[in-house]
Amino acid sequence: MPKNKNSAVEHKEKMQKQQKTVRAKVARAKIRRGVIIYLYGNGKGKSSSAFGTLARSLGHDKKAVVFQFIKGKWNTGEQKFFQGRKNLEYHVMGTGFTWDTQDREKDIAAAEQIWEKALSALSDPGFDIVLLDEITYMFKYDYLPVKTVVETLLARPEKQNVIITGRDAILELLDIADTISEVKEIKHAFRQGVKAQKGIEF
Ligand code: ATP
Ligand code: MG
Repeated sequence: MPKNKNSAVEHKEKMQKQQKTVRAKVARAKIRRGVIIYLYGNGKGKSSSAFGTLARSLGHDKKAVVFQFIKGKWNTGEQKFFQGRKNLEYHVMGTGFTWDTQDREKDIAAAEQIWEKALSALSDPGFDIVLLDEITYMFKYDYLPVKTVVETLLARPEKQNVIITGRDAILELLDIADTISEVKEIKHAFRQGVKAQKGIEF
């Protein structure tokens, strides 16, 4: 038998076996509930992934709400693109990066203000997906108590999905999240002196 034909048969057998394994795994997953997805780490890709999932959800006419806990000095592409869309609410914290505002009291007031809105969304079963972008900064600087946020997350409506992003690995969030990905920096162009680009970084 020519070598190619043999390998084609082998390939088919291998794929049939793999299909059986995958199907068995899929059949085992029976629980229907919302999950907490936590994306952390120093590499680039956390918010991009979160907003990608948001697009996916909105594509299926799910109801979503975004909370951006850090307002950068840039007008982000994601805000321009998503804000005002059908089935979506979009909230941005009233202050900028904490190292730019340099005003702890003002930052805390802004954090509490946006958290009030998040708190209400996290008890509203009308929202299928809640994105808490960069919320880990709130814990890092002690602007919000992690305990309160964890309790709220655990008490949220059963079907509600939550995506949390931020550089820091917060132990309490690692404990309760269902899906966790660490985005690790292997390289970043910024370290080579490349300027942040509109549409890529913000
Ligand atoms: P992105 O929004 O691009 O997915 P991110 O959410 O993973 O990034 P953040 O920690 O929120 O990362 O970073 C905010 C900004 O800094 C973004 O413009 C991002 O592209 C950029 N950035 C992310 N990781 C790095 C890094 N390792 N070095 C320099 N800049 C970074
Ligand atoms: Mg981010």
